[in-house]
Amino acid sequence: MITWAHGARTFQPPRVPNWGGGGASPGGGWVLGHQWPLSLGGLGPTPSASGRSGMWRAAAVRGLRAGVAGTPRSASGAAGLQLRQRLESELEDIRGAGTWKNERIIASRQGPHLRLADGGAGILNFCANNYLGLSSHPEVIRAAVEALEKFGAGLSSVRFICGTQSIHKDLEEKIARFHQREDAILYASCFDANAGIFEALLTPEDAVLSDELNHASIIDGIRLCKANKYRYKHMDMQDLEAKLQDAQKHRLRLVATDGAFSMDGDIAPLREICQLAQKYDALVFIDECHATGFLGPNGRGTDELLGVMDKVTIINSTLGKALGGAAGGYTTGPKPLIDLLRQRSRPYLFSNSLPPAVVGCAAKALDLLMESNAIAQSMAAKTQRFRSKMTAAGFTISGKDHPICPVMLGDARLAAVMAEDMLNRGIYVIGFSYPVVPKGKARIRVQISAVHSDEDIDRCVEAFTEVGRKHGALR
Ligand code: PLP
Repeated sequence: MITWAHGARTFQPPRVPNWGGGGASPGGGWVLGHQWPLSLGGLGPTPSASGRSGMWRAAAVRGLRAGVAGTPRSASGAAGLQLRQRLESELEDIRGAGTWKNERIIASRQGPHLRLADGGAGILNFCANNYLGLSSHPEVIRAAVEALEKFGAGLSSVRFICGTQSIHKDLEEKIARFHQREDAILYASCFDANAGIFEALLTPEDAVLSDELNHASIIDGIRLCKANKYRYKHMDMQDLEAKLQDAQKHRLRLVATDGAFSMDGDIAPLREICQLAQKYDALVFIDECHATGFLGPNGRGTDELLGVMDKVTIINSTLGKALGGAAGGYTTGPKPLIDLLRQRSRPYLFSNSLPPAVVGCAAKALDLLMESNAIAQSMAAKTQRFRSKMTAAGFTISGKDHPICPVMLGDARLAAVMAEDMLNRGIYVIGFSYPVVPKGKARIRVQISAVHSDEDIDRCVEAFTEVGRKHGALR
């Protein structure tokens, strides 16, 4: 029997029968049992096994029993066969349409220069949401390690059971302070924050008015709620006004928009939206995933950039992009709203707490941004350099002044082939096509980071020019 010491205590072997893998001891620690109901040849433990090798063996045995180490299992019978055929045909359709998404495997940290697992080294990365370069910032990494050591790997609990540590509360307070709001609530992702807010806030008496190009997570969140739904044309204020007039019959109106649109790099006309909201007694919600940390003079986001911080009621954003890039999302706004979300928001109530290392990263990223706006401001000139050089070379770049610089190509296959050719020249960019963007509007989305050098940007423009010329994609 192997016992694991935990802190000062050493737990005794369990008196209860175990099931051959790990088991919780009555004392609360974890104990690896060595009573093997199955004979598994050479994999069986020996009484002399050290703690570590015993652990690996136990894991291997569990794997074998689950079929992991053997032949993969799959559903059999007519239904299983039918499912397989249907899925294969659907996959073939995706390949045929040229919209197959490959996952390139990276063997280094996130940053402007990458090493790929298949051997490509010194690859220039132009497709991360790492706008401020904080994903591999030494202070951010150190903060994560410290939080990991002090607060452990994870909570194994949702927040309201035993999943709230002091660092979760500190981070929520910091987020609220950063955005100058009353309170904030953390989620495992911004996808979850968007999935949780509309259902908790709106009833069939209310209405939500949503930009047609809002992020998928806003669309899904709205689908989950029972409010009356209006979809206005992308950034079209006439259409929004018409829909607001129609929505006057409802108790409450909430206008929901991305602050910056991730596929087009365009920024919502928040001043006009807030004016209309005031005129028609509506609230404004913004998703700031592609704005938090770098838009506006102090990186507070679109509302700061456009001077409407006191007119936007609710902000959802992510910790998984500019703010260290680990994971996590949040809602920040009026305290009673945050209190209600803690009681009612399903992704918050029914999903695990953010792990300490992730909390540590985000807290440090916010500290860095609140200490100085230098990082937030360092990106604009690089974005400007890329946009103007690409336009001069004959490309159409969507959006304005945003580090998301979509190189518009139209055809899905052209976008995929050009992205592949760019990689062959050492530039990592990704083609986006339907269903991520509308049909016929395929593009390569380039994203500029504060940690790109001018030389990096010039190399990227040169490669685009060569590849664009080869494929006849220049104006
Ligand atoms: N909202 C927008 C606009 C996004 O771009 C994303 C991420 O792609 C999300 C929400 C989801 O954020 P997260 O990755 O934290 O779930």
